[in-house]
Amino acid sequence: MKAVVFHEFGGVDVLRLEELPDPQPGPGEVLLDVVACALNHLDVDVREGVSRFPVEPPFVLGVEVVGRIAALGEGVEGWSVGERVMPFLMDTCGRCEFCGTGRESLCLSAGFISFSTSGGYAEQLVCSVGHLMRVPDGLSDEDAAALQIAFGTAWHMLFTRGRLHVGETVMVNSVGSGIGSAAVQLAHLAGATVIGNASTDEKLALATRLGMDHGINHQTQDVVAEVMRLTGDRGVDLVYEHVGGELFQKGLDSLARDGRLVICGGHSGEVVPFDIIPFFRGQKQIIGSFVYTRQEVETCLDLARRGKITPLVHTTFPLAEAGEAMATMERREHFGKIVLIPGAAA
Ligand SMILES: [Zn+2]
Repeated sequence: MKAVVFHEFGGVDVLRLEELPDPQPGPGEVLLDVVACALNHLDVDVREGVSRFPVEPPFVLGVEVVGRIAALGEGVEGWSVGERVMPFLMDTCGRCEFCGTGRESLCLSAGFISFSTSGGYAEQLVCSVGHLMRVPDGLSDEDAAALQIAFGTAWHMLFTRGRLHVGETVMVNSVGSGIGSAAVQLAHLAGATVIGNASTDEKLALATRLGMDHGINHQTQDVVAEVMRLTGDRGVDLVYEHVGGELFQKGLDSLARDGRLVICGGHSGEVVPFDIIPFFRGQKQIIGSFVYTRQEVETCLDLARRGKITPLVHTTFPLAEAGEAMATMERREHFGKIVLIPGAAA
């Protein structure tokens, strides 16, 4: 099979399209023909060697996969060759104290797609049957591939961790990103007032079409002053933060008293100072969030199937153009996900 491999950490030029031995499913595993694999910023961190995950080249990237079952390993029951599936990002143990209490996103021994299997920048992938989720009819391959991480993460952050409810006001940072645009859609669907920010007016205009009520250009406007103007000097109930750097403190300063800031990333600055005094006097909260649960993804798949939410695909690339696909993502000019289609002609 063909796969995109890197043998040393670095820029997009370390990616090589190579012929690898066809993978074989072992006991309890399935072989998937990859039909779509969405790109994530995590892929860039892994390729550059700064992900803080244990990664040793040679390595095949790709965590967000949709495939068709091509072969079943020994002992696999309940699944058929030809079924369209997506591997849930994690293969959780089902036994630890967190799995046993409905908090599988905290599993103590989770295996991740591409870290504990090979990755999705390839024609085929083998994973344990424990990863598999069915993909409903009516969603295209690329839409399904674009859904899991963006909407799963957004659901977990907004509702499970951030406890957003009807009538509250939420500020979504960086609405042009995959998880930002997913959060706009879900928060709007849940009856919240949605304030969003982005680096360009074009991204704000697109987010408005997804249900954003008010947009702030964080390059040309004062985020905190705008939030206070829009909320009558009250601030927002929840800040949806995944950017880090300056937007983290601006998020805290945009909160109402007793407001919550939920955070799942920090590409623009992973270690930041923050002002303690207004934080505790306002009795604010910072809530960490990581990945999501199977149930949350299944809920989002059903919402997408019913047309209540729309996975956003910016563009697709054939496997051979994975370097150009990553470069497109790294320029950060896209709105929606970039998806590799291994079966497409280069
Ligand atoms: Zn576990």
